[in-house]
Amino acid sequence: MAVETQTEPLILVSDLTRKYGEGEAAVHALRGISLSIAAGEMVALMGPSGSGKSTLMNILGLFDRPSSGLYRLNGQDMTRLSARQQASYRGRRIAFVFQGIHLLPRLSALANVELPMSYARMGAGHRHDAAMHALELLGVAHLKDRYPSQMSGGQAQRVAIARAIAPGPDLLLADEPTGALDRKSGELVLQAFQQLHEETGVTIVIVTHDPVVGQHAARIVSLEDGQIIDDRPVTDRLRPQGGQS
Ligand code: ADP
Ligand code: MG
Repeated sequence: MAVETQTEPLILVSDLTRKYGEGEAAVHALRGISLSIAAGEMVALMGPSGSGKSTLMNILGLFDRPSSGLYRLNGQDMTRLSARQQASYRGRRIAFVFQGIHLLPRLSALANVELPMSYARMGAGHRHDAAMHALELLGVAHLKDRYPSQMSGGQAQRVAIARAIAPGPDLLLADEPTGALDRKSGELVLQAFQQLHEETGVTIVIVTHDPVVGQHAARIVSLEDGQIIDDRPVTDRLRPQGGQS
């Protein structure tokens, strides 16, 4: 985890806009988003289809740049980084989980989780330990030698989350992570996010249009038509096994 100054949140976004195309055909996907997320928060970003959730997520994850406005991450102005610097920052500090499960079919669960860390020039022993720890956190360590075709959708998604978090990112971004799963598998994935959040303190932003998914977070930011229309703490948060708070 990076050292934080107490004065600035992990994510600081101010008057952010994103326009696709020009002139009359232009689509204003984001129309002035201002948002701050402190290190260690678990936030759901909600809104109907087309409201700009993925566009905002792509900017937060440094896959895309805003048309105007400020984006600071960890106290650093992200809009000033070159594409190469952005890719490097992303590789080291940000993890992604998407709706589709993209495990490599010819690799075991363990090898899938270890793979991204081999690009990070981590020693083999450390890589193995970090991968096993991540699989344990997600409750799928017993599947370490299985191939993706031998797992359920929910199990594969939990392995994919283990892969994303094994390198120890500051920020986990998940876009509709349970969208392709049945209710029970989705619930297990959400519980895994909560456990991960509690044990590591990683900052988590989950994009969803599903209110049940939102209820697992501690705060819900609602988007509509490219603007934030609501931002509030979750009062009756859903917890694994009827747990604390
Ligand atoms: P959500 O994830 O909430 O469904 P998106 O961020 O994907 O919303 O899209 C927001 C708006 O921007 C929509 O009107 C969508 O059609 C438009 N949009 C998204 N990506 C592009 C693109 N690459 N080119 C043109 N328009 C886009
Ligand atoms: Mg989307």
